[in-house]
Amino acid sequence: MRQRLSPDEYSNGILTGDRIILSRAITIIESQLREDRELSRIILNNILPETGKSLRIGITGVPGVGKSTFIETLGTYITGKGKKLAVLTIDPSSKKTGGSILGDKTRMEKLSHNPKAFIRPSASNLSLGGVAQNTREAMLLCEAAGFDVIIIETVGVGQSETIVKGMTDFFLLLMLAGAGDELQGIKKGIMEMADTIAINKADGTNKAMADRAVQEYSNALHLFSKPESGFTPKVVPCSAIANTGIDVIWRIILSHREHSLGNGFFHKNRQSQNIEWMYDSIKQTLQNRFFESDAVARNIAEVEKSVSDGKELPLHAAERLLNIFLHEEEE
Ligand code: GDP
Repeated sequence: MRQRLSPDEYSNGILTGDRIILSRAITIIESQLREDRELSRIILNNILPETGKSLRIGITGVPGVGKSTFIETLGTYITGKGKKLAVLTIDPSSKKTGGSILGDKTRMEKLSHNPKAFIRPSASNLSLGGVAQNTREAMLLCEAAGFDVIIIETVGVGQSETIVKGMTDFFLLLMLAGAGDELQGIKKGIMEMADTIAINKADGTNKAMADRAVQEYSNALHLFSKPESGFTPKVVPCSAIANTGIDVIWRIILSHREHSLGNGFFHKNRQSQNIEWMYDSIKQTLQNRFFESDAVARNIAEVEKSVSDGKELPLHAAERLLNIFLHEEEE
């Protein structure tokens, strides 16, 4: 195992914006080792007063819609305005495949060399809940390190969009013209979560089709009830490659922030996200403790067999294992 620094060295390094230490601290919060968990708790506690000040943006869309190209272009635009940007990813595919759709090193090549940007893909081999937990903590570390804007990117193929929506201030859905909702695998619920929908690849021969799609999606959004933020979702065309519409999207993001700071939604939303985070942590901790328990480990094969042999109902087997776990916890 790589040598660990002291908690103060990590916290001070982060607070002075040292990226190498920031990276190493993120590795610690991702670590499953018991001693690292304690270290991570201390680091987070130390940096807590410096968190919460960034603008948190969630970006989703199906593979191929242009997320990494878009983030590269938007990121270059934002850093060009003097802001420091961190990009974190939640990639549900990394667990199953061992590789990952988002973790590819060639993604966001330009941004990865930009001194004002910091890019960190999610750790693999974790449950989605575990990845979400890590990402929230990584976000706090980045905020303490002075990043003004945090983009959290996820592939729009499952539950991860809801998780990203639950930890960001602004949620952007990237879509393509003419692919059809069903083809894009985008559910109505995800469209409903979006603060803005950007129709990407609105360039060349695709432009006219993108403009039509903007109209169609705008009409579709009118059918949804007004979001709690009070901000009417926008639909806009953009091209991540031709760099068009990117400034418009940034202005929308800023006006959304103005609007939600003005009506109190911004803080109310963060408060309820924190409550949600607390419950997620409880679930995650209970789950970790359960699967790390020696008593559970000793009995799980037998209980599993009894279920697969049809001798015991899954419900009863679960109850039995939980009792074994609780009994061990009491001792
Ligand atoms: P991701 O899987 O959502 O991250 O998508 P990528 O950013 O990797 O882009 C997928 C493909 O679409 C790549 O070949 C990009 O060059 C292309 N692409 C991305 N944005 C645009 C765009 O605005 N216009 C056009 N024409 N192609 C784009």
